[in-house]
Amino acid sequence: MSSLAAVIDAHTHMFSAEVHRTRESLLEREPWFGMLYTNPTAKLATDEELIRAAADAGVDRVVACGFPWRDLGRCREENAAFADAASAHPQLTWMAIVPPHAGTAAARELDRAFTAGACALGELNADAQGWDLADLSALAPVLEVCIAHDRPVLLHASEPVGHPYPGKGAATPDKLVSFLSAYPRLKVVLAHWGGGLPFYELMPEVADLCRNVTYDTAASTYLYRPDVFRVVVDIIGPDRVLWGSDFPVLGMAKFLRRTRESSGLLPAELPPIFSANAARVYRLPLHHGAHTA
Ligand SMILES: [Zn+2]
Repeated sequence: MSSLAAVIDAHTHMFSAEVHRTRESLLEREPWFGMLYTNPTAKLATDEELIRAAADAGVDRVVACGFPWRDLGRCREENAAFADAASAHPQLTWMAIVPPHAGTAAARELDRAFTAGACALGELNADAQGWDLADLSALAPVLEVCIAHDRPVLLHASEPVGHPYPGKGAATPDKLVSFLSAYPRLKVVLAHWGGGLPFYELMPEVADLCRNVTYDTAASTYLYRPDVFRVVVDIIGPDRVLWGSDFPVLGMAKFLRRTRESSGLLPAELPPIFSANAARVYRLPLHHGAHTA
């Protein structure tokens, strides 16, 4: 890369070869997967395609999020496949996925996945996996594993207003704030600009609750004008925003170019948002071989 800051895409998606092979049969068995991928033009990426997109965009590292499967057995298989993909591609880091309300069996799998190198738990999605953000006792065993390993959880988040879209769900800022207040020690990343929660950080008590929260920019172009970067950074500062595309939802190269050209961010704000914040929150190497944790 040139003298530009290192870039980490902190929110991307890929699927194992097994999911690609069994796509048709999964459409029924996993309703959320069916809703998103019954349309044959809805794209599933392989690890090779993800790595190629990163190379084409000049992205140094990608974080592959798990899909919110309901079935713990499928989560186990996908976690194992993601660990294999990360061994094959040193620039790929992966998140573990479990159904977070599945108690001690899910907690055991998550503990195993963190030991195998997962950088976080995610992308959890209450609507997809059939759990409730308010059901804290069901979520406790899994969230305690995150706290014990000092690893964050990435939650899908959605806007209470605006246009509907497949996969939007109802993880809105009001529910997210109740969840955050119950788990002050948990590190939380909220996807898709937190469904607009950063705007409520103008309220001091909300800002206080969100101290340990970072937001990623996944799918930004579908949701907001490019000025969302400037507006959010003016409210919460440059240290709690992670640049992420939601690849293949957004093209990585195009979104990177748009962010550089139209976000209104100052040169000094780019390195934290493009890489340093993700390296800190997910404990990633900024450059090959240079581990931060
Ligand atoms: Zn999402």
